[in-house]
Order: sequence, then structure tokens, then C-alpha cells
Amino acid sequence: MKINFDKIVGQQHVKQLLQQILEGGRLAHAYLFSGSEGTGKLATAARFAQAILCENAEETPCGACKSCLQFTSGNHPNYMLVYPHPKAAKDVEKQSVVQMIKEKPYQVKLPWNAPQISIDSIRELRRNLGLKTFGHQRRVIILLDAHKMTREATNAVLKVLEEPPPDTYFLLISSDQENLLPTIISRCQLVQFNNLTDEDILQSLLAGGRGTESELRLVARMARGSMRRALQLVETGAGEMKEVGVELLRTAFKRYSEIAAYGAEIAGKYERPQLKEILESLILWLRDAFLLENVLQAQAEANLTNPDDQEKMQKFVSNFPQFQYRSAIKEVETGIRMLEKYVQPAVVLIVMMGKLRKYAIKP
Ligand SMILES: [Zn+2]
Repeated sequence: MKINFDKIVGQQHVKQLLQQILEGGRLAHAYLFSGSEGTGKLATAARFAQAILCENAEETPCGACKSCLQFTSGNHPNYMLVYPHPKAAKDVEKQSVVQMIKEKPYQVKLPWNAPQISIDSIRELRRNLGLKTFGHQRRVIILLDAHKMTREATNAVLKVLEEPPPDTYFLLISSDQENLLPTIISRCQLVQFNNLTDEDILQSLLAGGRGTESELRLVARMARGSMRRALQLVETGAGEMKEVGVELLRTAFKRYSEIAAYGAEIAGKYERPQLKEILESLILWLRDAFLLENVLQAQAEANLTNPDDQEKMQKFVSNFPQFQYRSAIKEVETGIRMLEKYVQPAVVLIVMMGKLRKYAIKP
């Protein structure tokens, strides 16, 4: 029996582990898929769930058996999804979540503000578990964002995990294990997801035809191990973020009135998370320019994140031979922290540009 992990990015050790578990027929009643956001916990859990339920003995999930057809149409009687949602959640919103989990498992974003998994959801689950199973005997329950269970819900789940019904398997998913009760964790087998490597992300984006290699290399670097961030960057346009970042640097050498005007314009145009991406891409650009400066001196090849910008960088490097790259990068990092602390974005950008200007001149 071989599990088909097509389109699941990286995480070789997890794939191997799940393969061994299914092959050996040693399924535990509960697994905790733990790791940072965007590392593929949900995508892998959904695939594993389908594989557990699939009737094909060779390659699983086969996508063609009755169980697989029910699974992909979203009507598998023995597959249950529990996720945080408010009491007043509309059916159409719930359907959109189920659809997202199926189609974009790396990019699931719940349409509610700070939702929790309530005791009602767990009561409903327990009612369903009390029912007879249909056809295929195994049952799989995915508990998304398990750390968002209320205290009552946690206790109810604990009761189920203490005496799990036969042939019933729980896949708990959490990007915040610290906020799960130790008693829950101790009932689960831990499956730890690592941050993805740049190369894993790059290969997946290339295979999906999401852009040219040099564009996607930048995206992979900026994604910092998260496929969710990478896909977001592809959608919002990492190239645009970078252009704005470089323009912030260029404007830093103009008059103060221009610095203030551009800072205010950009702060008004982009949301805080995008502004952070803009500054992050500026850091990568500055690192490249720094690398290039050293390489030009050594007459060697540079392995740049932004190879397309080499000419622009060379110009920058020769225009500002005294530029203090390390201090400048620290300054941009400070800007990112200020954005996280909810300092006014326009102030952050204008102050940052004012400081960048200073690093072009020897103290
Ligand atoms: Zn199947």
C-alpha cells in the first residue's frame, strides 16, 4: 500500500511516518499534527484521512473507489470536519470553509473573527459518533485549530479520547501547541511539521506554473518556510512589493518633503501585513546589493535572490560606495517591528527613510 502525497510540499519525514503507520496497520486513535502555519498540516491530514478511508489496497487514496468519490464530493458519511466557528455562522460560510479545505488546503482562512470550537460542535460530533457507521467501517475526524477549543469543548474531547469508539481516528491540527492542554497532547501521537525549505517551496511553485524561476526564488525566500505565505505573495505580487521597497530606498535620498509625501502615499495604499512584506523584500534587496559589492571587489559570481535586479544594484553600489548595508538592514528590521507594534505606518516609513539616507554618508 502506497500513499499518494501528490501536491503535498516537502515534509518527507512526515510522509514516511504516515506511510509506515498505514502499511503496518498500526493506526493510533489520535494524532496531533503540530507545526507553524503554512507547513501543510491540514493538506496532509486531509490526504491521510482520505487514504485511511480509501478501499483500494495498493495505491491510496485511489480517487476512484466509492469512498474516494464520496470524500471528494464532500459527502463521506464517515469523515467529519470540526473547525472553529461562531454560533451564528451562516451555512454558506461553513460551506465555503469546507470548499477551501478541499481546494486550497494551504490557504484556509476562516471567515470569522477569533472563532472558537464550542461545546456545541463537540456535542454534535459525539452525537454523530454514536450513530452506526456506514459501509466502510473506519471513521476519521479532523479537528482544525484544536488549540481554539473552549475549556468545555476540550473536556468533552478528552472524554472521547479516553474511550475512543472502535475504528475511529482523530487528526488534531494545531499551529499553537502551547495552548493545548497537556492532557490532550498526551492522548495523541505527535506528528511534527517543520518549516519548509526555500527549495521545497520553489519547486512546488515552479511545478504549479506560478511564475518564472527568478520571481519565484524571491517568493520562496520571502515566504520563510510557509507555503501559505508563498501563495499569498504570488497572488499579491512579490514583484510589486519589491518595486515599492526599492522605491522607498530611492526616495530616501530625495528631499524631506518628497520622503514625507511618498511615505504617506505608500502607508495609505497598503495594509500593515503588505507593508511588512515590502520591508522584508527591501531587506533581501539590500542583502543582495551588499553581497554584490563584496563580489565585485572579489570579481566572483554572486548568488542573488533578485538576479534580475543586478544592473540596478550595481548602479546603486557604485553611486553609494560608502553605504552602510548592515546598519541599513537593521533599520528596516526596526521598521518591521514598529509595524508589528502598531506604530502609525506613515511614521514608520518616513522615519526609516530618514535613517536610510544617513547610511549613505560616512559618519
Ligand atoms: Zn479510493
